[in-house]
This record gives sequence, C-alpha cells and structure tokens, in this order.
Amino acid sequence: MIKNLGNNCYLDSVLQCLFHTKSIQRYIKVDRPKDPVSVAFVNLMRDTLRSEGNPETFYRLVKDAHIDFDNNYHHDAHEALMVILEMLSKSFGRISDTMFRSKSRRALLAWGKQYNIIDEIFRVMYRCVYRCKACGHELTNYETDYCVYDNVLDTEQLEHYRCDRCKSVNKTVRKQSVFHNPPTLITIHKKNVPEDKFRFGDALYKPFAVVSHVKFDERTGHYNAHVLEGDEWVLKDTMDLKVKFKPVISFSEII
Ligand SMILES: [Zn+2]
Repeated sequence: MIKNLGNNCYLDSVLQCLFHTKSIQRYIKVDRPKDPVSVAFVNLMRDTLRSEGNPETFYRLVKDAHIDFDNNYHHDAHEALMVILEMLSKSFGRISDTMFRSKSRRALLAWGKQYNIIDEIFRVMYRCVYRCKACGHELTNYETDYCVYDNVLDTEQLEHYRCDRCKSVNKTVRKQSVFHNPPTLITIHKKNVPEDKFRFGDALYKPFAVVSHVKFDERTGHYNAHVLEGDEWVLKDTMDLKVKFKPVISFSEII
C-alpha cells in the first residue's frame, strides 16, 4: 500500500494503477533507471508492491514540476496521470530498437521525442483523415495521446478548419480517427467501463486497473483504485470507505 500523507488520493489512485501495470513491472526488472524521477518512482513502486511505500520523495518531485498540485486541494486524477506520464517519459532512458512495437518510423517521429518505455506502453497513435466537404480533398495525419477518450473514434465535425487545396475555411470538415495498430494497453477516460472485457475500435480489452471517484460535494470528493489481482478486484484505498464503483480512468489490456 501507499502511505497516506493526506489529500493525495488523486495521486495515490493513479500510482496504484501504474504499479499494477505488468509491462512496467517487467521493464523495471531489466533496466535500472538513473534519473531522480524514475528512481523515486521505481523505489516507491517496489516498496508499495512489497509492503508499504512512502510517496514523500516522488510527490515532492511531482508538485515541484506541477505547482498547481502543491497544496492540499482535491485535484483531478486524469490530470495527475498525464503529468506523471510526461515526467516519467522524460525521465526513463531511450529503449533499444528491438523493444519497439511494430509502428512505422514516420509515425514514431511524429512527436519527435526520444522513444522510451512510457511511450512504448502508453502512447496511443491514431491515423486521422480530414476530408473537406467543399472540394473532397483528404489529408491524413498521425496524432498521438496518452489517454483514449470514449468518443475518440467517432466521426467529428471540425470548425474553422482551413483546407490545404481549396483554401476555404468551413465547418464541414469531417475527421475520422482510427488506431494506427490497436494498442496493447489503453488508459481510457470513461464513465462506465465494464469490469469484464469490452470492445474498443477493432480489439477486445480487459480492464485490470480502474480509478474511481466518489463526489462529496461540488468541491470535494475522493479517488480510489481497484486493481485485478489474479481473478479478484481489490480495492486500494487509504480510507475505510464504501464507494460505488464509478470508473473514471480504466487501464485495459488487449485480449
Ligand atoms: Zn477543400
């Protein structure tokens, strides 16, 4: 478990999910991080999975990097996940080419950063086609993100899009996104994730870690994490609190 420092449930819950991600567990067995952020993360992960981890060092690094979190307010777990993944992505070293998934070089270069284990596991890539309805011109673009949103594969109508060919600015551009290779792991921001497998895009996914939220009032609430250990969902929480299972972020693996 993670030692309760008070008012950090948005960080605790996200970290519990990251610590129960098997790809990270496998990776830290074969690589020793050197940067202070990844060292603090790996130390906390090992202690938490063994018995109890003290998050003080890691949380200090997060709060120094993202000063909005440096107080005792209730913050958003999704925002915390994005901040932590960005920090870890900069901190973990580049992985060797042999560990790459079968993504095209062109797409890998799309975000022009060093390709590291966090990008390998969490960064999802989309092939997006923008079609101008005035002239029919199509533009294909590759876009990436750490999180999958519920409606991301739906067709979208874009406003104020300037067509490369006919130069018209119109509201009738249709954007269609598909996964560029189904990701093996997705973190999905969704109100209702089934506890068992579900279809997303062309693949079936099985949730293995879920961040849930219970709202007390407009300004306060509490996050916790449910993780799959063997066949059982285990509640990871620092408070003795009965909560309704209301997922906000689900970490799901392809099956
Ligand atoms: Zn056009």
